[in-house]
Amino acid sequence: MNDQILELLEKYFGYNKFRPGQREVIDSVLAGNDNFVLMPTGGGKSLCYQLPALAMSGMTLVVSPLIALMKDQVDALKADGISAEFMNSSLSSNELYRIQNDAMAGKIKLLYVAPERIFLDNFKILLNQMNLSLIAIDEAHCISEWGHDFRPEYRNLKMLKQFFPQTKIIALTATATEKVRQDILNQLGLQNAKVFISGFNRPNLFLRVEKKSGAFEKLLQLLKRYKDDSSIVYCFSRKETESVAENLRANGMNALPYHAGLDPEIRKQTQEKFIRDEINIIVATIAFGMGVDKPNVRLVAHYTFPKSLEGYYQEIGRAGRDGLPSECVLFFSRGDAHKHEYFINEITDLNLQNTARKKLRDVIEFMETNDCRRKRILNYFGDTYNEENCGNCDSCVAERETVDATEISRLIISGAIQLGGRFGGGHLVDVLRGSRNKKLLNLGHDRLPIFNLANTFSTDFLREVISELVVRGLLTKDAGMYPIISATSSGREFLTGTEAMLFSRKKTANFEKQDDEEYDRGLFEKLRALRKQIADSLGVPPFVIFGDKSLREMCWHFPTDRESFSRVSGVGQSKLEKFGDSFLQIISAYAAENDLTGRPFADAPIKIKRKSATEEITFELLNQKKSLEEMARERKMAISTIINHLDNLAKQGREISIDHIRPDETVCNQVFPAFNDCGVEYLKPAFDYLNGAVDYDTLRLARIFFRREQETRSTTHNMEHGTHST
Ligand code: ADP
Ligand code: MG
Ligand code: ZN
Repeated sequence: MNDQILELLEKYFGYNKFRPGQREVIDSVLAGNDNFVLMPTGGGKSLCYQLPALAMSGMTLVVSPLIALMKDQVDALKADGISAEFMNSSLSSNELYRIQNDAMAGKIKLLYVAPERIFLDNFKILLNQMNLSLIAIDEAHCISEWGHDFRPEYRNLKMLKQFFPQTKIIALTATATEKVRQDILNQLGLQNAKVFISGFNRPNLFLRVEKKSGAFEKLLQLLKRYKDDSSIVYCFSRKETESVAENLRANGMNALPYHAGLDPEIRKQTQEKFIRDEINIIVATIAFGMGVDKPNVRLVAHYTFPKSLEGYYQEIGRAGRDGLPSECVLFFSRGDAHKHEYFINEITDLNLQNTARKKLRDVIEFMETNDCRRKRILNYFGDTYNEENCGNCDSCVAERETVDATEISRLIISGAIQLGGRFGGGHLVDVLRGSRNKKLLNLGHDRLPIFNLANTFSTDFLREVISELVVRGLLTKDAGMYPIISATSSGREFLTGTEAMLFSRKKTANFEKQDDEEYDRGLFEKLRALRKQIADSLGVPPFVIFGDKSLREMCWHFPTDRESFSRVSGVGQSKLEKFGDSFLQIISAYAAENDLTGRPFADAPIKIKRKSATEEITFELLNQKKSLEEMARERKMAISTIINHLDNLAKQGREISIDHIRPDETVCNQVFPAFNDCGVEYLKPAFDYLNGAVDYDTLRLARIFFRREQETRSTTHNMEHGTHST
């Protein structure tokens, strides 16, 4: 195809390849179609119209909802050497006049405007005289009342097709729902548009849920880890934002509150300070976000959980737009559910009230799940996600242990039966733990046989087992806000049977998620300071100069001259000329001072080392030929945890010497055929196949040997036939 497009990408934006989906959209725009693009936040939607704008002869008109965003985007384009302007009420009439003239004279490639301007009579006349090749409607969901950011002015965009029947339109959004999508297509008259939908996955976001006990301290520690980066903390109420921000400041953190009740001028200043890297932390209600395209937000924390998963995904979407690893932490307490319910009960429309309640329940289920969070949320949005382990959420990276919950499961199921299937999980737990709360005593539930029989287990653990029993179909939950728990027929069967109940649970997690990219932090600080200084002198936000990704690459490759500098991602011709020398100077001084050289550019992106320290310790012990029991004892861990470590090490392709812990031959002879028949991706089929005769730990251990033997067999096989593959 025409690789003029790739050349433009490199020359202006300094990127050497497209993100998924971009190329297809760009080709379709250039082929003269109307287009509708749905891509996740940070997916790179802007490029889908900016690049065609450069390739086409006329001007591209960009409709964008927020004045603040327009300016940043135009500044960024200018820094890339692209002639872009915006027109809105913040400009003087002189400036507006100059821009109009430039536009008429064909000197402008991209013109950003707010929707209301297009339909001003004189602007319409003007547009008719310009050579308009494309109209881009960014944040197109603003046209829909079904969306979360409805803007009445966007409604006028309906008329675009009538006024400019010849001009092609591209509409872009990150909003997921089908209803909104249809609405956009109808409203804009895009019946024949090509529709491009990428999934909603944001692979660079680490998702996790944290119990809210001791939350402030946890939040503080978290923010300290990101003290040189930007973070957003979402709160439930204005009052909460103020108190959290104040507490953070009292602890030396550079935080400010943000909510709709603040003076607009203050709000604007706070946002500006954040964008310009003058404060690190915004503590906000959901009012904050829409106007923020800051690409390097590294942490989004929800101090109180949000009322819907739509809101949650939208808010965490503000993390890591630049594609670099970023973290999202959600603090969960059941108590916070009451805050939400209070407002839900105030909703007078019963339908809306029910919807709100359902959404709240979905959030709670998401927070309680033991499953991959990413899979859960993507499924919620109707996106399928088939990876077994996403490797980037608390469930998937957690150390797991297999627990035998047979006895406690029996108690729980009996409890549900004794309560007659008329109470929720909270009450069931209270009875099992022998609580003496008033409701319980009034009901006489302290006289139930099951009362107090599980008093040695924590509430959280009991809750977890209940969820697991629901997942396995031994209990059911009805659809209320406090779902009633009852035993199913398989639950009753379980009580009389001999089956064991084993499940794998997260060990109490301690996620010190290390910043695990290797790049020189010292140089990074210096380059960040330079970036800030240049940005200030030009009156633009720092990310307009270079993104964090570009800086990190500089701190990995240590470019020494203009040629190598231009190979850093994000360095196009214009930025090379404007900023190259100042950056090169600092880099070479730093390299000389510390006696460092960089890595070559040839296919050597920044390495991410992600090995968990705990597995390394097990690895060491294993090399000393310790037995499983010895390792478990020394590490004060369950044998199942040790086996998990071995499993992970094997999956990473590490050379591990495990022959001394091979299960008995009789076991292998039993298990391997089961693996052959049932596959080894999941263990449950083999477990069932063997009627539970071999426990999960042994299966997991045996699987390592099984896989190995299969591998040796297939390589020898290949070598015999001379088809050695890599
Ligand atoms: P969206 O509008 O979809 O949320 P943006 O258009 O703001 O996303 O792009 C997000 C980030 O990704 C920006 O920092 C942008 O520079 C970067 N980006 C876009 N396309 C590419 C690419 N092909 N290669 C590298 N970075 C890219
Ligand atoms: Mg965008
Ligand atoms: Zn996961």
